[in-house]
Amino acid sequence: MPRKITAYACGFKCGRSCTTKEASIVAHEKNCFKNPKVKACRTCKHWDRDDDDSGETWTFCNVSELLNDVYAIRDCELHELAAEKGNE
Ligand SMILES: [Zn+2]
Repeated sequence: MPRKITAYACGFKCGRSCTTKEASIVAHEKNCFKNPKVKACRTCKHWDRDDDDSGETWTFCNVSELLNDVYAIRDCELHELAAEKGNE
């Protein structure tokens, strides 16, 4: 017979898998790229995406070439919170 369990997921809806360990998710959220306090590209208004005729899509930074193709940056000094971009 199945037993009921409690699972936890990231409150920023980043897609990370659920876990039964609440402390694990709490620790994750502090570093989640969708946490605005992390100041990562995914929540920044300067982060953008484009595509070409082949359907290939890429992301880039509108204010710094140095950040192009860099996805894992944190605590960016150029970060400005986007209105809805964190939900993509
Ligand atoms: Zn997350």
